[in-house]
Amino acid sequence: MTDDPLVRVEDLQKYYFEQDNLLDRLLGNEPESVQAVDGVSFDVREGETLGLVGESGCGKSTTGETLLRLREPTGGAVEFDGQNVFETDDLNEFRKRAQVVFQDPFSSLDPRMTAGQIIREPLDVHGVGTEAERRERVEELLERVGLSAGQVDRYPHEFSGGQRQRVGIARALALEPDFIVCDEPVSALDVSVQAQILNLLDDLQAEFGLTYLFIAHDLSVVRHISDRVAVMYLGEIVEFGPTEEIFENPSHPYTEALLESVPRADTSEQGRDVGTLSGDVPSPRDPPSGCRFHTRCPYAREACRAETPADYELDAAGDHRSACFRQVDDHEYWESPPLDDGTRAVEGTADD
Ligand code: SF4
Repeated sequence: MTDDPLVRVEDLQKYYFEQDNLLDRLLGNEPESVQAVDGVSFDVREGETLGLVGESGCGKSTTGETLLRLREPTGGAVEFDGQNVFETDDLNEFRKRAQVVFQDPFSSLDPRMTAGQIIREPLDVHGVGTEAERRERVEELLERVGLSAGQVDRYPHEFSGGQRQRVGIARALALEPDFIVCDEPVSALDVSVQAQILNLLDDLQAEFGLTYLFIAHDLSVVRHISDRVAVMYLGEIVEFGPTEEIFENPSHPYTEALLESVPRADTSEQGRDVGTLSGDVPSPRDPPSGCRFHTRCPYAREACRAETPADYELDAAGDHRSACFRQVDDHEYWESPPLDDGTRAVEGTADD
């Protein structure tokens, strides 16, 4: 792994606009928007795994799909190896070098195609190699992901869930990419199979020098595989840093709450995830003012409703960052009264 970013995401936005209707237009009303991703910035260093974690619906998958231009962005920039991929019409080279592995290998693989056809499709689309070379490459990929060349003519339904995900990974590897967005690649699998797929991804990264953006809601999976972690809440990144820093020394109250939702090692619960955080997630159609987490944060004060926190650096190198006023000693937050809007109990919190 190097310190050089392969991917740089700057102020990425993805809004979905409601269909405007005639009455709204006559009244001069703006169409409503869902702010799925709103001003997200981060970089992914060459050869690293960056974990992107948050509750369901926080915008993490939309972030991955938008930075790959599988969805058109509303705003911002994505630089891949120095080139702004939002400003080019020729995505051919980018499409070869940046791939995706999806969550559900059953629905992401065409049931009418054999494993061989699925893995070979990117080679056909990009015109890579001769007929014989493509066949050879498909067999080599099947074996590299732990399947056998003899399974080349099987259809997706003839594989187990873990095997199907191996086919999805082989397909993603076909064009020898540098970067793969792994979008919840193990969350549809049994725990024992999850470990095998994570180990495979680890091995492939070491062998081919791959860079991963690893999107997941399961914190134990993210901790296992990531070098650094970005924590996302309601379309924004609220904390970013090295994995051990995030897990051992979390700064943002949302990260703290996520970690408290993870089962202890001495319990028998497995795979509990960030969905166990209490309180309703506000609608991205009408996100809260100021700090978006203020409606659920036990430390919230009036200042949190009025002002949006910046991305405060917690160390000299700026490796660990948190978007919370509590990181700033002289911020007016500390003089501001507790926010008592009836949405949470503010007395007896860790502020005391
Ligand atoms: Fe909580 Fe305020 Fe920090 Fe937001 S800025 S996380 S509401 S304390």
